[in-house]
Amino acid sequence: MIAPPHDIVFLTSEVYPFSKSGGLADVMGILPLTLSRMGVRVAVITPFYGRLSTGQYPVHLVHENCPVGYPWADTTADIYQADYHGLPVYFIERGEYFDRRHYYCTHKGDYFDNCERFIFFCRAALSAIRHLKMGARIVHAQDWHAGLAMAFLAFWRRSDPFWAGIRTVMSIHNLAFQGRFSYRLFEQSGLPLEAWNMEGVEFYNSFNLLKAGIAYADKITTVSPSYAREIMTPEFGCGLEGILTRRSADMVGILNGADYSIWSPENDQILECTYSAVSPEGKEDCKAHLIGMLGLSPRMVNRPVLGFIGRLRGQKGIDIVLEIIPELMKLDVGLVVLGEGRADYEAQLMSIMEDYRGQIVGVIGYTEEMSHLIQAGTDIFLMPSRYEPCGLTQMYSLSYGTPPVATAVGGLRDTITPYPRTGANGFIFADPTPEALLATVRKAVRVWEDRDSWRQIQVNAMRTRFSWETSARQYMEVYASLHNDLSSSWRNI
Ligand code: ADP
Repeated sequence: MIAPPHDIVFLTSEVYPFSKSGGLADVMGILPLTLSRMGVRVAVITPFYGRLSTGQYPVHLVHENCPVGYPWADTTADIYQADYHGLPVYFIERGEYFDRRHYYCTHKGDYFDNCERFIFFCRAALSAIRHLKMGARIVHAQDWHAGLAMAFLAFWRRSDPFWAGIRTVMSIHNLAFQGRFSYRLFEQSGLPLEAWNMEGVEFYNSFNLLKAGIAYADKITTVSPSYAREIMTPEFGCGLEGILTRRSADMVGILNGADYSIWSPENDQILECTYSAVSPEGKEDCKAHLIGMLGLSPRMVNRPVLGFIGRLRGQKGIDIVLEIIPELMKLDVGLVVLGEGRADYEAQLMSIMEDYRGQIVGVIGYTEEMSHLIQAGTDIFLMPSRYEPCGLTQMYSLSYGTPPVATAVGGLRDTITPYPRTGANGFIFADPTPEALLATVRKAVRVWEDRDSWRQIQVNAMRTRFSWETSARQYMEVYASLHNDLSSSWRNI
């Protein structure tokens, strides 16, 4: 067991490699680890899902029957711990809540008791901090699943000396997912009635767990500077732009990094052949391998192959891609799509695959291996998101020399230098419309046909780096602004 104290305790519903449904897991798999490697005392608390991938990191029971407190007077959680490269990751175990096939929902919709599950998670995590004497100075919550912890702490620290010195940080990875429930569930949450108001947890008569985090955390962060600005507007604020604007003095956008120990073609063991900016030849072998593996026409070796990886949802603009298929195919390009999501998009993808055999392949589902193979084996990466808090997949595509074609939103705007600007590493278009996407793909294909220009963009892409150490230092500044003494203990970091 890695013993406390842990100055910074992260609360998250996902952490790679133990659980993952999207970018949050990637961030939680590397930000705490980076801080820990820099010398900050950090721990992570997350649910013990039935489908946890413990792999080479065994988990051990460290506390049995940890009391969770009102409204579960008799309910307890078992706490497990794993050592993830020296970082303690604690798991909250309660089978009836977390031992399920999926994390949050099935194809039929959200689990009916998600509110109860994540109230439980927050209460149990805070209880673990207390009973395991973690010594937390800062509790750092991620997304709506952990938002309520910010509210509990704001109230508890008024009256309970144990919590009085604890400060809180709320990170927003995606404002569209808010965790909205009924007033009846608020009544069961254990929060005082005074939290039920427009400056608290109430949102148009519903109980909003992300808003709880935004309203009560001492500091708020989100995952890119552009998204931090965007979410204060009605267009991107998902109804929370008012409270976010009121809290803007306490809010900062910190760009995510990329984990290059996992997402780098130079040392990627999943690939047929490794490659780098200085010796890029291997990328062609990766492309030929992908084409063969997926049954694309061998002719595609000499044509640009486009890649798309992501949840098949409106946010990611998969519908915009599907809409331009006939025009896209006239450019004689290949297309590989990896993802899962809305049933109608999945069905549409399967049907166009039939229509354009050898030119389009859709893989429904998600595996890390396939994601790496597509990043390496395609030429152009499509990311026509309607909004994108940060986006990690485009950072990975840059690393793999697969320049992105993306909308000018959020983190895409912050990470892509568009052609024909000096140092261009990709292509950007303003509005998420089929016409704009098609025009920009046409432009990218034209540049691809000019080998020297394309090579330059690829090299620029592969040399673009988003360091987690830089981001971690910005988080340290946020923590230190809440506890001055932390910065003196970090003086030599
Ligand atoms: P988001 O978090 O909005 O899904 P990001 O681009 O920030 O998008 O992060 C996506 C991460 O999740 C990448 O590691 C990507 O490979 C992975 N990913 C993409 N689609 C899926 C999926 N359907 N299931 C699990 N992980 C996915």
